[in-house]
Order: sequence, then C-alpha cells, then structure tokens
Amino acid sequence: MPPLVSIRSLGKRYGATEVVRGLDIDIGAGECFGLLGPNGAGKTTTLRMLLGLVQPDAGEIRIGGMAIPREAREARQRIGVMPQMDNLDPDFSAAENLLVYGRYFGLNDLTIRARIPALLEFAGLSGKADSPIATLSGGMKRRLTLARALINDPELIVLDEPTTGLDPQARHVIWQGLRRLTQQGKTILLTTHFMEEAERLCDRLTIVDHGQTIASGRPRDLIDREIEPFVTEVFGESVAQWAETHGSCCERLELSGESLYCYGRDPDRVRAALQHAPDLHYVQRPSNLEDVFLKLTGRELRDA
Ligand code: ADP
Repeated sequence: MPPLVSIRSLGKRYGATEVVRGLDIDIGAGECFGLLGPNGAGKTTTLRMLLGLVQPDAGEIRIGGMAIPREAREARQRIGVMPQMDNLDPDFSAAENLLVYGRYFGLNDLTIRARIPALLEFAGLSGKADSPIATLSGGMKRRLTLARALINDPELIVLDEPTTGLDPQARHVIWQGLRRLTQQGKTILLTTHFMEEAERLCDRLTIVDHGQTIASGRPRDLIDREIEPFVTEVFGESVAQWAETHGSCCERLELSGESLYCYGRDPDRVRAALQHAPDLHYVQRPSNLEDVFLKLTGRELRDA
C-alpha cells in the first residue's frame, strides 16, 4: 500500500538560511508518526508546507495521492489540525466552536450537529456543550481543540505539540484520546518536545536538526541502535573530578553542570566505581529516547 503521506527531498530557505534541507518522510495509513527536533530544527515549517500554507523551494509532497501545494485545498478536507496554540473562539460555547469550525469545511449544520455529541464525549466534555470557553480549564480547552480537529472526520490528524503546557493528568487524557484515534485507524503526525510522549505514542519517528533528518525509526529500535543500554546519572559538586579519575568505568560520559551521565553496558561497574565517593548521589536506569535525542542533538540550549 502506498504511504498516506510522502515527502521527498523537501527544501525551504528563508533568505540565506536553508531551514529544511532535503527531508524524506513516509507515513503509512494508520501510523502515529513523530517529528522531533530542537527549537529551530524546521518542524513547524515542514508542517506548514505539508498543509500547503508555506510554499516549498524544492521537493515533493503527496497526501493521499494529492500533490501539495497544488491540491492543498482538497487535501485539507481530509486533514484535521491541532495547532500549537489554542485558538478557540472565546465568544462561543464549546459546542458552538465545533459548529463554526465545521462550517469551514462546507459541512451543513445538520451534519455538524449530529457529530457534536460524540466529539464532546470523546473530549470528556459532554456536560460542557454550552459552557463558554473562558470557563474551561487548560486541559479542557486542549481536548476541545483536539475534538475540533476531528469535525471533518479526517484521515490524517496533524498535531503540533499537543500536550505542551498541560499537567501530567491532562497529558495522560490526551494520550488516551490519541490512542483511541489510532485504534480507529486514523493516521497521526505529531511534533513534541516530550520524548516520553513520542516513545509511548509513535510507531515511528524522525529526529531532525538544522532541517535534516539525523535519525529515524521505531522508538525502541532507535534506542537499541543509537545508544548504550544503561545510564548512571551522577550528581554532586565533585562530579567532574570523579569523572577524570573513574571515567573508564563506562563507555561514554556526558557532563552537564553538576550532573554526569555515564552510558554503558555494565551498570554494576559504574556502581562499584561510585562506592568510594560518598558525596556523590546517583540513579541508574535503562537509556531512553531522551538520551538518544540529547546524544544526537547535543545538550546546549537552543533558543531559536
Ligand atoms: P521548529 O518548529 O523546529 O522550532 P521552525 O520551522 O519554526 O522550527 O523554524 C526553523 C527556522 O526557520 C528557524 O531558524 C526560524 O527562525 C526560521 N523561520 C521560520 N519561519 C520563518 C519566516 N517566516 N521567515 C524567516 N525565518 C523563518
């Protein structure tokens, strides 16, 4: 089966800067795909090109066989979008927001009204149909924005940082919703800065930096392939000194302020080396996607 989304050699420059450089992405129907990368990596620009809102300088995008941006208007009928910032209309109630949004897709009021109860139920907002937006919590607004993205019964749902700014409880509720959508066969493309989110939800993902893919695959495969299996996080003032004398107890060290990350295959060796350093604290755990991300993109801040 051909992929639902196919991106080939995609390129975009702003002035002298190439912000997207030869990106290739395939997303199969029913997949949850993650687009990860530090700030300024080119994720939003890529999403905007996918939706036909920004003109690419190079490459090809196809969604369900339609060429973007030429057929973007038709393609958007089959796409639901959850933007990074909630842009619900504060003058309307929850149900009215869904109604007004549905009209943008040319749906008649009868069709939209028939869909609203199920969408509110999906969002856990059945009792809030008539509530003004201002009375909803941050988590409720986010869930309503997700429900709104489904008003046109889309095949593809594009989510730009769906859980940024939410507390852990609200984040878990959104994750449950997204899992329900993939169970229903929807295709999801999401960006996120939460590696745990990507690891839990995404079937496959790509990590981009400076507009280029630096790694892609299934989260588990990326962890197995790109990084040592265990990490010991060591904390304390004398950590740099300890690293100089005991660094050989693991395969790779990353120092970040007063934290040291010792990556390796043998956590017992690291623990033994720490036995005579009572002023240092440590935690041992299996490596995860965040470790992969930081190894590949670096630990320095990106304020772009
Ligand atoms: P991300 O979503 O990964 O943080 P963006 O796609 O927003 O990255 O931005 C990639 C780069 O392109 C950044 O350096 C950003 O400043 C630049 N950029 C984005 N949009 C524009 C624009 N309209 N004009 C000029 N530069 C832009």
